[in-house]
Amino acid sequence: MSFDSLGLSDALLKAVADQGYTTPTPVQIKAIPPILAGKDIMAGAQTGTGKTAGFSLPLLQRLADSADLNTRPRRVRALVLVPTRELAAQVYESIATYGKYLPLQTQVIVGGASINMQIRQLRHGCDIVVATPGRLMDHIGQKTISLGNIEILILDEADRMLDMGFLPEIRRIMAYLPKNRQSLLFSATMPGAIKTLAATILNSPVEIEVAKQNITADLVSECVYGINKDNKRELLSYLIGSNNWKQVLIFVRTKHGADRLEKQLVKDGIRSASLHGDKTQGARTKALDYFKNGKVTALVATDIAARGLDIEELPHVVNYDLPQVAEDYIHRIGRTGRAGSSGSALSLVCPEEAYLLEAIEKLLKRQIPRVDDTGYEPVSLKVMDAPKKVAPSKNSGKKDYRHTDKKTPQRERGNGANFNPRSSKPKNRSSSRP
Ligand code: AMP
Repeated sequence: MSFDSLGLSDALLKAVADQGYTTPTPVQIKAIPPILAGKDIMAGAQTGTGKTAGFSLPLLQRLADSADLNTRPRRVRALVLVPTRELAAQVYESIATYGKYLPLQTQVIVGGASINMQIRQLRHGCDIVVATPGRLMDHIGQKTISLGNIEILILDEADRMLDMGFLPEIRRIMAYLPKNRQSLLFSATMPGAIKTLAATILNSPVEIEVAKQNITADLVSECVYGINKDNKRELLSYLIGSNNWKQVLIFVRTKHGADRLEKQLVKDGIRSASLHGDKTQGARTKALDYFKNGKVTALVATDIAARGLDIEELPHVVNYDLPQVAEDYIHRIGRTGRAGSSGSALSLVCPEEAYLLEAIEKLLKRQIPRVDDTGYEPVSLKVMDAPKKVAPSKNSGKKDYRHTDKKTPQRERGNGANFNPRSSKPKNRSSSRP
């Protein structure tokens, strides 16, 4: 199957060829023809499947075919709703890339950026708006955007928008859109809430499923290191240093945890940055740029901040903390092994997280391979052996686990500032790499 057979115009085929794409991905094969035919679609597709081109290409074609280029200012005819600013930036980039030979204009409307600048740009007019729901509602409230001419609506990563609590905003936004429009919904998972939303937004949609929700990318090699919580940071620094990793995305649970780990890695001599919701937009963009162009090796991120990041050929993902929601494991490791390149995803799992690992493996319907020789005291990842969580007593300091294993690890711990991951090697480590 080639792109030529999908019904795309020469301008779009040229832009696709410029990108070096030779064959469409499964989601593109299934989504592009019905979208070009004006149908609504509901697509189950994860990040990394090529879904952005799957909706951007036919969106651009439909708008270009019906464009009245003499209308001034341009009216907003397509709206792409996304959960995060980072995803908005990436969707914008894709639309700009694929639409470079077309006379269509796109604007991004997200929080954390000057609303006055956005108002000025909106006054000039544009064809496509890529927006996060909160900031779009601000513009609707201030009457600085009109959605009355929308012909095509796209909800991208709809499950994540609901997870982030955007359902009320989405419902309110729907009330401002014309009833007679084409609507496309993309979601990595299809929980009941998404189906309910789809039933109210979509009109007899074509349903597309490209990868089962419980399948992770085939090209990703996964493994689990059973390790006590207190040894995680040291093992991580060792893995980065000894394997000479150049680019690793590390997931943590909390914003505070992201800041703390970033500082610790820097002390270990690893160039690091962090990405989370408390950072300013400028700091987030800078962290991402540095990571993309190799100025930092490790990017420590929370799930929400990292959602939808598209970094080409990202080789390594580490789950420093396991996600609280099992589906997030699939999203996280979908950052690597993308569009034909292989990657590694490893999880540092302490006994207190055994129940989270169990939930992930239940979802995947398979066991993630374990690394037997971690170089540390072996730990049990069986849920029944896991320490029980107890409420911390007033004077208990930081410890909130009853049976935290305080046994000395098989090797001495690295000493803070002087720790050099490249020269430190845990005893008994086998040479096998993850
Ligand atoms: P997405 O799932 O939209 O986040 O896309 C994942 C990655 O796949 C992006 O880096 C795209 O540039 C790339 N991509 C999209 N379509 C193709 C294709 N047909 N062939 C090769 N790479 C593609």
